[in-house]
Amino acid sequence: MAYIYPAKLSPRQKMWFIASVVAALLIGGFGILFEPDRPSHAGNQFTVNMSIQQIAPKLDVTGKGLARELALPLDTPKKKPLNELGISQEQLDHAATHILSHYSTGLKYYLFAAIVLFGLVYLTRLGRPDNANISEREIWYPRIPYITCLLAAVIVCGFVLGKSPNPMEGTVKVFKSTVGLYPSVTDKLLALAFFVILAIIGNKLICGWACPFGALQELLYSLPILRTIKRWKVSFRLINTIRGGLFLVMLLFLFGIVGGRKGFVIYHYLNPFNLFILDFDHWLILVTVIVFLILAFSIYRPFCYLICPFGFISWIAEKVSLTRVKVDHGKCTDCGACINACPSQAAKDIVSGKLFGADCFSCARCLNVCPHDAIRYGFVFSKTSCETPQKQSASEKESALI
Ligand code: SF4
Ligand code: SF4
Repeated sequence: MAYIYPAKLSPRQKMWFIASVVAALLIGGFGILFEPDRPSHAGNQFTVNMSIQQIAPKLDVTGKGLARELALPLDTPKKKPLNELGISQEQLDHAATHILSHYSTGLKYYLFAAIVLFGLVYLTRLGRPDNANISEREIWYPRIPYITCLLAAVIVCGFVLGKSPNPMEGTVKVFKSTVGLYPSVTDKLLALAFFVILAIIGNKLICGWACPFGALQELLYSLPILRTIKRWKVSFRLINTIRGGLFLVMLLFLFGIVGGRKGFVIYHYLNPFNLFILDFDHWLILVTVIVFLILAFSIYRPFCYLICPFGFISWIAEKVSLTRVKVDHGKCTDCGACINACPSQAAKDIVSGKLFGADCFSCARCLNVCPHDAIRYGFVFSKTSCETPQKQSASEKESALI
């Protein structure tokens, strides 16, 4: 059936497709053009005869940041040679390697923007052929463009370009910089703002389409061979309480309110993005990766819903997203088709009009199942036939049908 879809697109949509692909390639091309040379810090460039003050600037962290990596108190004397602080060469090499693994390639920001741009055009303009007939809805929103973007996110933004930057790290680094672990709070705030903006222009599009670990979970959940596996929709209230609670606990530890070790970040031990550089410097990281990838076969995006701090932040941000799934309550008959198609509780919460419902990852599964043409993806302020302010009562619907 998928081969019918391109033929159904209007000439204008074909132009949109070409323009969006060209724009995405251009954005990626600019990223390659403007990518600065990666700093090369050979591990043996640093010795334990050097002080924190000498080494930290070369690693682009503050003295406190390096002290934390070396498991020293943040107020450790920064001018003393490291061997006098009891640090071995092996510990120093390990800390330097770990800090350098967080090197943020600028190219990835461009690629994230390119994927999100294409996703936005696909969802709002391309997925549903112009003047489409509802009886042909099965061919709408074919999966191939989505799967292609997910593969690009995992392979290029993940395994090829490494773990940094990513939305989870972008969130955590803002808070780490406020306790002095990075030189500039403003830089980290700008990086987080970039991800939040991408989550707002299209409902969590950065998570749904471009985040490497999100994409990996999405691909595992979508594997056709696993479709017979039982799928679980876990209570959103429960998982969001865990995700929000963890975020609070992270802040309490980071600011030293609990544990008395300022600068301690619990997410460090739960960071699945280390998979993309195959760096499992703590056994808990490996356990996190394995457990959540296995869970992803049966539960939709378990890491995003249960753990990820950016998942939590973008869940709040999506309440003001500019484009999203919209339901025409005048047409909706509560048949439940979209709710069944949705892998999470999101469609159910959207249909019932819940303000703080489950995160929607803009996966498009619900957009080609409604027999009453009551569900669309569109701009929040646009007046489409899919928008009525109030849910009609059953009697109103009946009288409208007479
Ligand atoms: S919520 Fe999921 S998709 Fe979004 S940043 Fe976190 S891991 Fe990635
Ligand atoms: S199926 Fe669910 S998660 Fe996917 S777009 Fe629809 S409401 Fe959002």
